[in-house]
Amino acid sequence: MNVAQTKAMMLYTAEKMVESEPTLTALDQVIGDGDHGIGMQRGFAAVMVQLQDPAFHANDIGDFFTQVGTKLMTSMGGASGAIFGTLFRAGGKSITGEMTLNSNVLCKLLNDGWQAVYLRGNAKPGDKTMVDALAAAAETAQKTQDEPLKQALPQIAKAAMDGAEQTKQMIAVFGRAKNLGERAIGHVDPGSVSMAYILQYMSDYLNQ
Ligand code: ADP
Ligand code: MG
Ligand code: MG
Repeated sequence: MNVAQTKAMMLYTAEKMVESEPTLTALDQVIGDGDHGIGMQRGFAAVMVQLQDPAFHANDIGDFFTQVGTKLMTSMGGASGAIFGTLFRAGGKSITGEMTLNSNVLCKLLNDGWQAVYLRGNAKPGDKTMVDALAAAAETAQKTQDEPLKQALPQIAKAAMDGAEQTKQMIAVFGRAKNLGERAIGHVDPGSVSMAYILQYMSDYLNQ
């Protein structure tokens, strides 16, 4: 996919994330402070405006995702603004100069993005955060990097959703959910669901 095709995919993804606000809000109401859906909606609505601006220009795939990450970081707020902003900014920077988004390039974005998210927030797999979805996605991206993107993305998205599902069994280490202790068990981490949704919508766009 070239930059224009990547932009069309992310515009679709942003629109779907905006539509997912009620689901994400409901999840954060159970386990957090209830603002996760609104934060994601605000961030991806800003990305929609950004990408629809006729003046928007990206030099390459890396620059494209870096700009999207900066927009998320500056518009969302909350822990997830910094975390999802970091994922796309750092992931984008690591693929600077790439003119084509393929499985190999996506693999680099996810793995280097995960690294940066860890440096920023210190969450490891098992801590009940979006990292549980991201780490699973990044690992599957490594296994599928020689497959066409259209085939790799559904597998990556499924791994992320399985990773999100696994957070139900975990005790939280960060945020308000931490105060719930064992009462957080049985409830999914909202950020991990957002992570899985982003990848699922990217996959849906390619496979619709
Ligand atoms: P806040 O917690 O500030 O209200 P949100 O509700 O928007 O922010 O986002 C909460 C989500 O952010 C969590 O569900 C979790 O997935 C993610 N998150 C929180 N802290 C971290 C962290 N240190 N590393 C990675 N993800 C985190
Ligand atoms: Mg919250
Ligand atoms: Mg909050």
